[in-house]
Amino acid sequence: MSAIDSLPPLREVIRAHGLSARKSLGQNFLLDLNLTAKIARQAGDLTGCDVLEIGPGPGGLTRGLLAEGARRVVAVERDPRCLPALNEIADAYPGRLAVVEGDALEIDTAAHLKPPVRIVANLPYNVGTELLVRWLTPERWPPVWQSLTLMFQREVAERIVAAPGSKAYGRLAILAQWRAEARIVMELPPQAFTPPPKVSSAVVHITALEAPRYPADPAILSRVVAQAFGQRRKMLRASLKALAPDIEVRLERLGIDPTDRAERLGLAQFCALARDLAP
Ligand code: SAM
Repeated sequence: MSAIDSLPPLREVIRAHGLSARKSLGQNFLLDLNLTAKIARQAGDLTGCDVLEIGPGPGGLTRGLLAEGARRVVAVERDPRCLPALNEIADAYPGRLAVVEGDALEIDTAAHLKPPVRIVANLPYNVGTELLVRWLTPERWPPVWQSLTLMFQREVAERIVAAPGSKAYGRLAILAQWRAEARIVMELPPQAFTPPPKVSSAVVHITALEAPRYPADPAILSRVVAQAFGQRRKMLRASLKALAPDIEVRLERLGIDPTDRAERLGLAQFCALARDLAP
C-alpha cells in the first residue's frame, strides 16, 4: 500500500489526539487512506474546485481530497477534539484547507466557498438525510454545487436512486432525480469503518442537471410528493384528496389511474400533477 501523503497514518493521529469515536456524533472513521482517495476520485476532477466536506473527523477523507488535487477544501467539523489533527493537515497543504468548527446544520457554508463547488462527505448518519434534502432544495437551480459525493447507510442510498415500483421509491428519489442524476458508485461493508457500524454503507454520486427533467413548481411538487407518500398504501384518489376535491377527475385527465398508489407514479407524472395543481 502506497502512502498518499507524508502525514502520519490515521491510527497514529487518532492515538496522538485521543480521538476515541463518539456514537452521539455519528463517528465511524475511515482509516484506510487508499480507500479515502478512492472515494475522493468518485467526485471527478477536483483540481479546479472548492470542495465542501462535512464532518472531516481525523481527516482521512480530507487527506484523500487534497491528495487528489482539490483546489481548496472547506471542512466543517462539530467535534473540537478533531481540530488539532485537522490543523496539522492544513499545515501540510498550505492555503488549501480551511477548517470551520461548528454544526453543519447551522453554518452558512456558501460564504466560505468559491465556484465551482463539489461536496464530498462521509456524513454523520444522524444529519445526512437532512443535509441532502437541503442541498437538493436550494432557492435557485442550478445550485451552487456541481456534484455531491456522499456516504450513506446503504438503505438510504437505495432510497436516493430508487426507481418507481420499488419499495425504496419515495420522496428522496424524486428530490434527487428530478433535477439531478444519482447513482451508487461504491459499496462499503461495516468493517471498512472504525468502529464498524451495524449496517453496510454506500457512496452516492449526484450530479446537478442544468434544468429540471420536467417543469414543475418546486413547492407544489414537494407538497404533492409529501402527500402521496405520506400515505403510500392508500390509492392516489384518497391520499391526494386534501390537495384538490376534484383530484379524481384531474388524475384521469392526466392519464393516471386514481386507484394506483404513489410508488407506481414516475417523475413525469408527479410533475404533470404539480403543474395541473398550480394556481
Ligand atoms: N470524514 C471522517 C472519516 O471519513 O473518517 C469522519 C466521518 S464520521 C462518519 C462523521 C463526522 O461528522 C464526525 O467527525 C463527526 O464529529 C462529524 N459531525 C457529526 N455531526 C456533525 C454536524 N452536525 N456538523 C458537522 N460535523 C458533524
